[in-house]
Formats: sequence, C-alpha cells, structure tokens
Amino acid sequence: MDKIFELINEEQTRQNEGIELIASENYASKEVRRACGSILTNKYAEGYPHKRYYGGCEFVDEIEDIAIDRAKKLFGAAYANVQPHSGSQANAEAYRALLPNGGKILSLVLNDGGHLTHGSPVSFSANLYNFIHYPLDKNGHLDYEGIKQIILEEKPDLLLAGFSAYPYKIDFELLGKIAKETGILFMVDMAHIAGLVAGGKHQNPVPYADLVTTTTHKTLRGPRGGLILTNNEEIAKRVNSAVFPYYQGGPLEHIIAGKAICFEEALSDNFKEYAGLVISNTKACRDRLAKLGAVVSDTDNHLFLLNVLDTFGITGLEAQKKLEEIKITTNKNMIPGDTLKPNKTSGLRIGFAAVTTRGCTKKDAEDIADLIFDYLGNRIGVEDANKKVASIVSNWKFIEEI
Ligand SMILES: *Cc1c(COP(=O)(O)O)cnc(C)c1O
Repeated sequence: MDKIFELINEEQTRQNEGIELIASENYASKEVRRACGSILTNKYAEGYPHKRYYGGCEFVDEIEDIAIDRAKKLFGAAYANVQPHSGSQANAEAYRALLPNGGKILSLVLNDGGHLTHGSPVSFSANLYNFIHYPLDKNGHLDYEGIKQIILEEKPDLLLAGFSAYPYKIDFELLGKIAKETGILFMVDMAHIAGLVAGGKHQNPVPYADLVTTTTHKTLRGPRGGLILTNNEEIAKRVNSAVFPYYQGGPLEHIIAGKAICFEEALSDNFKEYAGLVISNTKACRDRLAKLGAVVSDTDNHLFLLNVLDTFGITGLEAQKKLEEIKITTNKNMIPGDTLKPNKTSGLRIGFAAVTTRGCTKKDAEDIADLIFDYLGNRIGVEDANKKVASIVSNWKFIEEI
C-alpha cells in the first residue's frame, strides 16, 4: 500500500478516537465525500455553465447549475458563485468585486476574533487594501454605536462583519442599516456560522449585505471550499470576473458536486435539528464549565472562549497541547483584551459543530466540560482521562458512516 493510504488510515483512526472541538471543523457525509473523490476531478471546465472554454462540459454544466440553484435557495440569494476554492479565495474575490485596489475596509481587530484575510499584514489583504479596525467592547461584544462613529470619522468604503472566534449573535440587519445610513458598502463573511444560518438558527445576512462570502466546510458541513452570494446583479457580474479569470483557473467540479450535495442536506429538517443541537450542546458545555468556576465567555452560537490563564494558570498553547495528550483537539485563541501574544494566548476556542455531527448529547457535552476542567486543573491523570474520552466516543458514530 502506498504510504499515503497508510497515513490516511491513521488519520481516520485519529478522527474516530478523538473528541474534535475545533470550532471550524466538521465531518462531511459519505455522499459529499463520494462526490469529492469522483471522476469529476478529471474535467477541465474554465468559465461558467454554458459558457465554457472547453468541450465536453454538458454534465458538469448541469452539476454546477444545480449547485448554484441550491445555494440560492438555501440562503435566499439572487446570485451565487460556487467556484471559490476556499474562504480566503472567496474573500479576495469579493474585495476585488467591490473595491478598487487601495480601497478602505473597516473590519474587526484581528486579535478580537477577526480572520487573517480581514487585513492581517501577513495576508494579501493588508497589502492590496487599506484596512482599519473596530474593537469589541470590554465584555467582548460588538459595539454597534462605536462602529458607526468610526465610519463617520474614518469614511471607509466597506464595512466587513463575520468572524472566526465570536461567540455571540451578530445583528446583520443593524450593521446593514448603519452601512446604508453612512453610504458605504456592507460585506459579511459568514464562514463560521453558515450552517447555523442555513439551519435557521442565526439571522441570515443575505437580505442586508451587498455581498456575503462563506466557507462550505465549517458548520455547513460540506466539502472544503468557498461560496459567494449577492442580491445585486452588477456585483454578481463583477464577482464572476473576479473568480474567473482574475483569481482562479479551472473550477473544481468534483468539489462543486460535493457542495451541491451539502446544500441539499442543509435544506433538510434534519439539518435544522442539527443546527439547534450544535447550539444547545455548546451552551451545555459552557454552562457546566462556568458552574465549575471556569472563566468562560457566554455563547449563543457553536463556540465559546475558555480563559485558561485565569482558570488554570496556563497559556492557551499549553492547554491545547495538554488536551491533545488525551485526544481532545482544540485551538489556542486570543481572548478580548489578551495580554499574551498570538503564539501563546490566554484562551482556548471550543466548538461543538463536529462532535454534534457524530451524535454528541447534552450529557456528553457536560461530561466533556468536567473532563476538560479536571484534566487541565490536574484533578485526574492521563490514564483516567483517556478512559473517559474512549467511553464518551464509544457512543458516537464512526466518521466513515456519517
Ligand atoms: C475559516 C475562515 C475563512 C477562511 O477559510 P479557508 O477556507 O480556510 O480559506 C475566512 N473567513 C473566516 C471568518 C473564517 O473563519
């Protein structure tokens, strides 16, 4: 067997045996994975359905048309581009469609939960555009009035919302109103919460934003990729040119087929129930940790932040590594007002999208809280902790059966 297949098997075992609490991860269904691993990978189809640069596109045209229709239906959008290879690509393409080079964008302070593509100096974004930032308030919530004041003073061209580590609901309607009143464009990057939006458990930004980008592999539970939505015909045309030929070449039709299947799954009642369970499990774990005395953010979505420095006297990096010893995967994360650097951090980001797909119950979520609290607080040893992890996971679906 090729070494690569041996490693895939080892990764499969790792995924099956572990408790996956990384808030941006999930498990795609067999059907999504079947489409992604299909012979569609063989096909070149530069361009858009019925306007391709290659022959032989009649079937991939139909596949991409279906993916577009389902994306539009799922999010109530007039236009969808399903070709972005990732969330980061989708953001580059969205900025290109909305602004000239050097355009001024107002986004969240990166250490408060923003994304690298929202103006980090190590990403293309800060190089091509002029980013300024709004902070969260001292309780870690969006400060809508403060955002409006910054817009009035700084006069950006675009307001950007949608985050990687924000545990609360976002009032897209209010942000859209502020952008309209101040005469600037409004873009939402709903990469993290797209599944909650699809499941009807978070306000949908599409009616209020000029353009919405997302990933398809986080709470939405599809293949790794991106998606751009808009209700504006002119913007839709500029998005299409920004995706191809400006930033990308041939579309990944196998992944687009996987997206189409994911959108159909997300339109089901099962998925609505799933989105609700993600939120209730997250809340159950968070509430249990708070009851035990941990310093945690509140939550009304699929994630919360645990302040491990104040709770256990260790850094986020140390906590992440320690939990890895017992097959609980999380990631270190800055907390609002963090005093430590991004490579250490005071916090852990904990999310329940992935484990809920495997069948995590409320009781499991509370047991996971106890386990994290006891293990990081040195109340139980590695052997006992590992036994508890194995016992929790033993009730869950195998990932290949999802
Ligand atoms: C994950 C994420 C992205 C990037 O997605 P990739 O597919 O990893 O490029 C963009 N924006 C936000 C807010 C994200 O959380």
